[in-house]
Amino acid sequence: MKRHNFSAGPCILPQEVFEQASKAVLNFNALDLSILEISHRSKDFVQVIESARSLVKKLLKLGDDYEVLFLQGGASLQFVMVPFNLAKEGGNPAYLNTGTWASKAIKEAQRLSTVDIVASSKEQGFNHIPKDYTVNENADYFHCTSNNTIYGTQMKSFPDVKVPLVCDMSSDIFSRELDFTKFDLIYAGAQKNMGPAGATLVVVKKDILGKTGRNIPAYLDYQVHIDKDSMFNTPSVFAVYVSMLTLHWLDQQGGIPAIEKINQEKANLLYAEIERNPMFKAYAVAEDRSTMNATFNLVDEAYQDKFDGIWMDAGINGLKGHRSVGGYRASMYNALSLESVQVLVDCMQELEKQA
Ligand code: PMP
Repeated sequence: MKRHNFSAGPCILPQEVFEQASKAVLNFNALDLSILEISHRSKDFVQVIESARSLVKKLLKLGDDYEVLFLQGGASLQFVMVPFNLAKEGGNPAYLNTGTWASKAIKEAQRLSTVDIVASSKEQGFNHIPKDYTVNENADYFHCTSNNTIYGTQMKSFPDVKVPLVCDMSSDIFSRELDFTKFDLIYAGAQKNMGPAGATLVVVKKDILGKTGRNIPAYLDYQVHIDKDSMFNTPSVFAVYVSMLTLHWLDQQGGIPAIEKINQEKANLLYAEIERNPMFKAYAVAEDRSTMNATFNLVDEAYQDKFDGIWMDAGINGLKGHRSVGGYRASMYNALSLESVQVLVDCMQELEKQA
């Protein structure tokens, strides 16, 4: 039996995607060739990447003013590409610091320009999303992180800013409805809700590009990737293929509105138990809790071995918190079922009984 996989990423993907992908490794599109051995310029793969691109636009409800790219280098390379493409020499981009990944994005931007950190929740251990801040109208852009994978906080709303709005959606893209047209640039490593590690999704509004006057290295230049249809160099063929399958699966489920309903049910079930069960306490403040990554701790650490034994015996995987915060983190990405969350809740109740 498959394990209940709460891993933070790479993470669970739909079982049928694993099955389709494994068939394509042996024989893709009845070509008598593996997906791993065909040219990225073959008709069959070009169809895959085009289909992935149009599914992204369909699911996010975006028009032709946006380009969809499948790059490599993870979200971490986007920490570099964003300032290269959007911050002018001597410019001053604005960043919201809500966690480890936001801090890394800030650090990379600071290599190129001064950065205005509009607010930070670092002093409180990144347990909430700061809300009281303003973004200067002269900022090159405003960068935020929609979901903080490590701390389990999530932005429930986004500010109306007069500058390009850039968002790292690595750990909650395709999980909830948002007005995606509000954003000028969205990026996400594939390895949560989209596919395997190795592909990075970038969705960019074309009219924000080409304004910095910088001499951008070709690989880091969004316009180069747009002009080459994401084939400036060999794309991660398999990761793009599996992403296409997952996007197709999501579309078949009823798209983002349908999955958001299930994601909310899963999160409600788990957070209700964290609140109810006297053995546990939540890490993040209630109003900012993430529907994707729930972080929580034992009230008494002495029960750690006992609790770990219970959930491991129940077939749960990937529940340990990030090494920087400890405790527990239950990642409930799109492909995780409500039943798996119920198994975790049962384990928490079992600990309460045994204590
Ligand atoms: N941003 C967020 C919100 C993340 O969760 C992660 C990875 N977990 C990253 C950025 C870094 O992504 P990558 O490993 O793809 O560079």
